[in-house]
Amino acid sequence: MSEMKYHNNFLKEVEERVEEGHMVKMCMQCGVCSGSCPFGPHWAHPPQELFMMIRAGKREEVLSSDSMWMCTSCYQCIVRCPRKLPITHIMHGLAYLAKREGLAPKGQPTAEFGQMFWDNLTKDGRVNELKLSLSLYFKDGFGQGVKNAMAMQSVGMGLMKAGRLNPMEILGGHKIKDKSGFHAMLKKAREIEDARRKLA
Ligand code: SF4
Ligand code: SF4
Repeated sequence: MSEMKYHNNFLKEVEERVEEGHMVKMCMQCGVCSGSCPFGPHWAHPPQELFMMIRAGKREEVLSSDSMWMCTSCYQCIVRCPRKLPITHIMHGLAYLAKREGLAPKGQPTAEFGQMFWDNLTKDGRVNELKLSLSLYFKDGFGQGVKNAMAMQSVGMGLMKAGRLNPMEILGGHKIKDKSGFHAMLKKAREIEDARRKLA
């Protein structure tokens, strides 16, 4: 495969499989997004650089990067981009593609929490805040979990007082009525989206 063909393939893949990926080619590399991003200096590859790497065909390097997982959806970049690229959406789209391709960095906190939240929500159709907090605190083992829970004690108590955390949720918690219908709907939505994005 020639170098040029490889370049075209990855840009084409991003255009087809990443949300708003067709806009990447519009980037003129001015750097305003990277300069405006509050977390830019902490990213290995700020947005402008990721777009340059996509066009250079660096598939493995882009998809295994930690960078797009750091996007907090503050929308600062979108507001300022002179070419009106939907940068935030592309960042999340790249992260999703990386996850689906098994290239997301292992142990990446946003990726881990995203999966945890999705599993928690889709199980019963409602978020069980207590179980979500416990799975987060205890994800690295029992000892670390106890330490995390102790460190977050005052926050937990505050949430309980405000009625946002119910200890009784440990017994199962609230659920939607038609769980099987909800799961069927999610399955169908995933099939449609996978076909649209060629992710199946
Ligand atoms: S601000 Fe827009 S045009 Fe400029 S580098 Fe960023 S994405 Fe590209
Ligand atoms: S939306 Fe994401 S990429 Fe854009 S400035 Fe905010 S953190 Fe940075």
